[in-house]
Amino acid sequence: MKYKSTRGDVNSITFKDAVLMGLADDGGLLIPEELPQISNEELMSLKDKSYQDVAFYIMNKYIDDIKEDVLKKLIDKSYKNFDTDKVVPLIDLDDFYLLELFHGPTLAFKDVALQFLGNLFEYILSERKQNLNIIGATSGDTGSAAIYGVRGKKGVKIFILHPKGRVSKIQELQMTTVLDKNVFNIAVEGTFDDCQFIVKEIFSDVDFKKKYNLGSINSINWARVLSQIVYYFYAYLQTKESDNLDKINFIVPTGNFGNVLAGFYAKKMGLPVNKLVIATNENNILHRFVQKGDYSIKGVVKTYSPSMDIQIASNFERYLYYLYDGDHQKVKGSMAALKNDKFIKFNDLEIEKVHQDFDSTTTTNEETLNIIKTVYERNNYIVDPHTACGVDGALKLKDKLDEKFICLATAHPAKFLDAVKVAIGKEPEIPERIKELFNKDKRVYEMPNDVNAIKSFIEQNIDE
Ligand SMILES: *Cc1c(COP(=O)(O)O)cnc(C)c1O
Repeated sequence: MKYKSTRGDVNSITFKDAVLMGLADDGGLLIPEELPQISNEELMSLKDKSYQDVAFYIMNKYIDDIKEDVLKKLIDKSYKNFDTDKVVPLIDLDDFYLLELFHGPTLAFKDVALQFLGNLFEYILSERKQNLNIIGATSGDTGSAAIYGVRGKKGVKIFILHPKGRVSKIQELQMTTVLDKNVFNIAVEGTFDDCQFIVKEIFSDVDFKKKYNLGSINSINWARVLSQIVYYFYAYLQTKESDNLDKINFIVPTGNFGNVLAGFYAKKMGLPVNKLVIATNENNILHRFVQKGDYSIKGVVKTYSPSMDIQIASNFERYLYYLYDGDHQKVKGSMAALKNDKFIKFNDLEIEKVHQDFDSTTTTNEETLNIIKTVYERNNYIVDPHTACGVDGALKLKDKLDEKFICLATAHPAKFLDAVKVAIGKEPEIPERIKELFNKDKRVYEMPNDVNAIKSFIEQNIDE
């Protein structure tokens, strides 16, 4: 399989090159040249296979420049750090299924992709005798999952900026208790926006970027999308519906459109999916898009589900490419319009096409708390506020769509204690691996909100 850019000026590159390139050199996103298909027979042959086996089967269709036994080893290694053999267990709550994606080291779904990406980086870099220096800003979840993905990996260093005192206690501990030599936590005297600004400034210095082979680990990397396609297949195979190849719906708490995009690929490959439902919180640009073709950027509001407090969904461009039937010029035009005018307009035909695959819902803060309480009372099960947006959406659409829902549970409730406590009057049980963090040694570098100071700190600690 070869890869190309959504904007048409990068073509025919290998999987490994696509992984190292991250963002395509023409500013677009990398996508596979074809969509591999999976027949019903193939699907059924995966029925009783382990997560790792399903992962190998799916990923191997997209990767032809890594030997099969090597790919198998990378997959096995990536899912060893999950606390259950199933990796992503499916729970049947009668009204709907829940897919628990939070059994990785940082208790959020990003581990599924970042554990794999870390091993993949290490493998490709050692083969090419290269070093990679990852620099990123985090408001909490991505940073910790990225750090756990690359800790101790050869050839990789990671510098993660977080706003000092503005991430949750657990998120802070998850990052700062990682003492591996290749991990640098920088607590910036400022906000998350300040951190992001600093990272952007550093990346805009093209000489610096080239000299130190800077990379990012954000959700636009193709390998992240690819590793997420796997669990749509695996989840489906665990349902009763799969015995007769009946269709199901997926509902996905969405921010950057990375997770639900993986579902779109699974559907296009032939997985029996009726609708992929995009669940949003009050930052509902994607809901407005699906319902009325209104993709216009508004201000970001703070909610109980901070990892979905996003207005510009960085993976949306990949979907645009398919919506526009592969018309690169149209993709470029729309992305330019978004930058200049802060909106993209869609016509009725396009919206009709969107509705073949997607539906959407939006959930207020108040509804988030209510649903956490409802699920707790009805099922004695505690969902986190992100997952709650999905469950709320599933219940809202229950009468419109006949097929059963799989709700993607994207974080463990212990990560978002405060909202859960408000909703049900008590804290969820805290897993052992979180409790242990409170007694561990920490390492964090406190820095002023100053690009040059941080850049020179990075320069002193970086590998050429
Ligand atoms: C990142 C994240 C999301 C949003 O996922 P996208 O791929 O950005 O749509 C949802 N829930 C949690 C808990 C997350 O960490």
